[in-house]
Amino acid sequence: MAPIAVLDTAALIAWPLEAMRGGIVLESQKVELGRVAPERLLVLEAADLKWHSPNDDSMGKAEEMAIGTGDMAGLSSIDLNLLALAMEHEATLFTDDYRLQNICEKGGIPWATVSTRGISSIWSWEIRCPGCGAEQEIPSQTPVKKGDFGVCNACGSPLRVKRKN
Ligand SMILES: [Zn+2]
Repeated sequence: MAPIAVLDTAALIAWPLEAMRGGIVLESQKVELGRVAPERLLVLEAADLKWHSPNDDSMGKAEEMAIGTGDMAGLSSIDLNLLALAMEHEATLFTDDYRLQNICEKGGIPWATVSTRGISSIWSWEIRCPGCGAEQEIPSQTPVKKGDFGVCNACGSPLRVKRKN
């Protein structure tokens, strides 16, 4: 029997119905899909997906892991919920999000890519000011807008997240 799969939105858009059958997905992905690929929602009704929301316990564990690896700041709320679902159901997380892959890799959660090759090594992240070069603390909260990390305390430039070597 195929392993239990948690599917990110890229898989929901790209995969044939047969590949998705029985997969676990998030209630909140319906909203995301309605925005980015509304025609897919109708198709997915035939895919026999299991729409779930993670419980508080697994959400807490997912947050802890994401903060621990320094990936929390780059994750959307859906990303974090998918991670929690994968843990809760002991499933394989199918995602092309490098941060999620990184957390899974470090946390021993099975993962696989949707369409691209996976990471070959484990990354660390840092938030650095492109203006003055000051390193900033990685926020423990998910940013309101994905990729928005605020501005530098010292010079006011918008901050960027960078892969640490
Ligand atoms: Zn600066």
